[in-house]
Amino acid sequence: MSAESKKAHNFIQSLIEDAIAKGEHTGKVVTRFPPEPNGYLHIGHAKSICLNFGIAQTFGGECNLRFDDTNPEKENQEYIDAIQADVRWLGGEWAGEVRYASDYFDQLYAFAEELIQKGKAYVCALNAEQMAEYRGSLKDPGRNSPYRDRPVEENLQLFRDMRAGKYQNGELVLRAKIDMASPNINLRDPILYRIRYAEHHQTGNKWCIYPMYDFTHPVSDALEGITHSLCTLEFEDHRPLYDWVLDNLSVPCHPRQIEFARLNLNYTITSKRKLKRLVDEGHVDGWDDPRMPTISGMRRRGYTPESIRQFCDMIGVNKAGGTVDVGMLEHAIREDLNTRAPRAMCVMRPIKVTLVNYPEGESETLTLPVHPQDPSMGERQVTWSRELYIDREDFADEPPKKWKRLAPDQAVRLRGGYVMTCREVIRDAAGGVVELRCEYDPATLGVNPEGYKPNGVIHWVSASDSVEADIHLYDRLFNHESPDSDKDGDFVDHLNPDSLVVLSGARVEPSLAKPRQDLPYQFEREGYFFCDPARTEAAGRPVFNRTVTLRDSWGNGGKGGK
Ligand code: ATP
Ligand code: MG
Repeated sequence: MSAESKKAHNFIQSLIEDAIAKGEHTGKVVTRFPPEPNGYLHIGHAKSICLNFGIAQTFGGECNLRFDDTNPEKENQEYIDAIQADVRWLGGEWAGEVRYASDYFDQLYAFAEELIQKGKAYVCALNAEQMAEYRGSLKDPGRNSPYRDRPVEENLQLFRDMRAGKYQNGELVLRAKIDMASPNINLRDPILYRIRYAEHHQTGNKWCIYPMYDFTHPVSDALEGITHSLCTLEFEDHRPLYDWVLDNLSVPCHPRQIEFARLNLNYTITSKRKLKRLVDEGHVDGWDDPRMPTISGMRRRGYTPESIRQFCDMIGVNKAGGTVDVGMLEHAIREDLNTRAPRAMCVMRPIKVTLVNYPEGESETLTLPVHPQDPSMGERQVTWSRELYIDREDFADEPPKKWKRLAPDQAVRLRGGYVMTCREVIRDAAGGVVELRCEYDPATLGVNPEGYKPNGVIHWVSASDSVEADIHLYDRLFNHESPDSDKDGDFVDHLNPDSLVVLSGARVEPSLAKPRQDLPYQFEREGYFFCDPARTEAAGRPVFNRTVTLRDSWGNGGKGGK
């Protein structure tokens, strides 16, 4: 993670500092980010990435990227590639090669045999239903499986036969022998291995048995020399099992598991399973749809890695949980883009303006700053000519009180240009405004007119050399604060029908014919907009995605920006 984030102290950092001070921790701090490649990463994962890579960086240690790939049916290479690209884009530099839990399948198998040899694991033939019944409940202790006391030799033979493909899916499992009466259900002889005839994206058809997460994770951590295994709170109840596995095996070290609260954002879903449903059912245009809370969606929308890291810093890391307002994320984006985004003018809904007193066929070049507060970003040129475009919404036939834009017989300044007054409104047969005939005041470039006052400043482009563009106005994907709270039905019922409005025929400054692709622009008075390279390529004209409005306008009709 780069140095711009001055990381706030979090409780995990304090724990490690204490351990170092007391001499309980010596040597390097090693963390890992362990995604399962069964979907794309989302904003919740960003929190975990910032934490794991951030802790490693703070203590001069290392962070591994390890795919937790024990469910071959749900995983694939597309996800693996996307996850690596996303982690890298966010600034995560993992130590060495990418790792896979499946790299350790041979060792995991050997450790499973070690448990069997020690009488700490057995092969069980209860089916899923029986197993659930034997497990008991929160109130009632479980009962021992009738297979629990098989002799070691028999367990070994059966386990080897499982591996050799002599049994069918679900026929046998390997279970840890811990305590069927434990108040912690995770300790009631959890499954360590199950049979799955499934081709694996890394190991092909080598295996027909796959280790469970609760067995794989501690062993993988130990094999990699992880010192601090940071995970979300739902694994707190699994920690005794994590420790049991490591205490009972001849692993090289015993990492410490520390839990923190998941990130929940309002108006947002952070569950890969549900995000996958949005993709599979076609509610969005893929995992990287700019409305998705995925890292790739946010990237396509114009969010910057800096702003996402800043957001993760703002929300901090704790054990308390709760829900963060998505407005905080949007705020972080605005803050970052306000200082860095180049300015440009885009007329979204063009209406023609003819400057009746400007000579036909002539034009002049006006110079505007790329950024009003940052001269180092340079200047840009726009053309002033007889025909211009302004936004339809910047003209009112009958202006409301305090109207700061154009209206009949009223004057307005065009940003970086002159003041003009509307003299005539040309209409079509239906009465719709098709053209405004205005008079400009040649004495007003950079100075205010004498004797009358322009209403405000609006943006514009020249008709002749502006470029046509398409604009995708994105808004929040859901219009319900907690779209996946179970009490209000299915989350897809809360999709915001106005989350995407496409405007074609917008006009942008000529310099935007080939838009930059590293940062969004601020379209003056409209918001921040980022070029969509794939769509631009396909359309043969620039296509921009709205990153965020200039101000928080959610709840005011969502139309923001002005
Ligand atoms: P999901 O429920 O979306 O599938 P997951 O936890 O199953 O998430 P993993 O791929 O296993 O997804 O997650 C990788 C890491 O990211 C884990 O350490 C996990 O705890 C962390 N993580 C996932 N979601 C969040 C979240 N909302 N906030 C913080 N960390 C998260
Ligand atoms: Mg998971």
